[in-house]
Amino acid sequence: MADCLFCKIAAGEIPSNKLYEDDTLLAFYDIDPQAPVHFLIIPKQHIQSAAALTEDDAALLGHVFAVAAKLCRDLGVEEKGYRIVSNVGEDGGQSVKHLHFHVLAGRSLAWPPG
Ligand code: 5GP
Ligand code: ZN
Repeated sequence: MADCLFCKIAAGEIPSNKLYEDDTLLAFYDIDPQAPVHFLIIPKQHIQSAAALTEDDAALLGHVFAVAAKLCRDLGVEEKGYRIVSNVGEDGGQSVKHLHFHVLAGRSLAWPPG
């Protein structure tokens, strides 16, 4: 989608610090990390947010979570734990309107979030 930051990152038009890539997904480190480990997983396909997901996206979502688990294992944070979060809309704190999953680890994360 034109003028979408994460579509441009997915297409390689804007550089990112990549952790993982395949035909459908990209994982890259967040430019403004909120924890010692903070990366984003995005579908390459433009989806506005989790609010736009349908039953047809079941396989894509399963893949997102399987990749998140694998990367957390590879990064050595599986045992201590981590958080996966997707912000939706204004009150959810979504600043980039392309579906993404934050994966945060490496410190004890507060609950409830601010
Ligand atoms: P949101 O606020 O929409 O849930 O999350 C968007 C995230 O994208 C933020 O954590 C922000 O730091 C990150 N971000 C924004 N622009 C860029 C960029 O150009 N490169 C990378 N790697 N992360 C970005
Ligand atoms: Zn996009």
